[in-house]
Amino acid sequence: MKKLFTIFGNPVSHSKSPLMHNLCFQGLDYDACYTRYRLEDGTQLRNKFFELGITGASITVPHKEHAFHACDELDEFAQKVGAVNTIVNRDGKLYGYNTDAPGFLKAIAEFPNAKKVLFLGAGGTAKATSVILRDAGYHVTLLNRSAERLESFQKEGFQTYTFDTFEAKKFDLIVNMTSAGLEDDSLPCPKEILNQVIPDALACVDVIYGKETPFLRASKEYNKPTKDGSDMLLYQGIIAFEHFTEQKFKFKEIKSLMKNAFLI
Ligand code: NDP
Repeated sequence: MKKLFTIFGNPVSHSKSPLMHNLCFQGLDYDACYTRYRLEDGTQLRNKFFELGITGASITVPHKEHAFHACDELDEFAQKVGAVNTIVNRDGKLYGYNTDAPGFLKAIAEFPNAKKVLFLGAGGTAKATSVILRDAGYHVTLLNRSAERLESFQKEGFQTYTFDTFEAKKFDLIVNMTSAGLEDDSLPCPKEILNQVIPDALACVDVIYGKETPFLRASKEYNKPTKDGSDMLLYQGIIAFEHFTEQKFKFKEIKSLMKNAFLI
């Protein structure tokens, strides 16, 4: 019987995930279909999942914490970071994973000499990725607009700053982990701070994809290599697909099909 998958989010109309996963289902001759579902009330995620009779789901903004609470079983990393972006139904039990963070880790592997990373932003994505980067041997510092969000990072032992307390030093990678530039034209932090840290950096990375953000534009002014969030999106999608299909396919073969979604 054909398996059904979906992405839950709000908004969800812009998501590339249906295209990414359907290209793979077709290319690998896997009898499944992937749709999108705009979910307003995240507390209804679990009910909706069973009501739709789906095998698996991706979860995007703003429901990753709701997804965490909707699961019966969590893998160790999802448990640690409190956010789930991939759910698989196995015999009526919902299993939750976080593939955003390993996706980001894989995306920045192209900068092998980068060890000291400055995150601009301290939201949910920064929370999961800071933990996986630290576990992988990176040194992560966080700079955020508001002090409130930094508290949980301080408890985890990360060095944190607000715009007022920031002390410039050398960082290898500067990463925009905020939504600044996603739907507006703003920088993630004051330009003066960028002017202090970008010149010494090896590269600048944005998690936003599909557009040149003001942050990436500013980075190019310094002739720095830049990278947007497309590879992160691709890699989180491949890892999710591996869960959806119970590791039936090789990473490489999924990648060769899924990357075509970025050409359309
Ligand atoms: P959250 O809502 O959890 O956090 C938002 C963060 O952005 C906060 O730190 C907030 O600061 C900061 N922020 C928002 N607007 C501004 C602004 N104008 N100036 C300065 N700081 C700002 O978001 P997420 O962590 O869920 O998502 C962050 C980004 O990651 C989004 O752009 C999202 O699209 C992207 N993303 C990309 C993925 C990919 O595959 N490429 C996967 C997942 C996410 P404050 O605390 O002060 O409000």
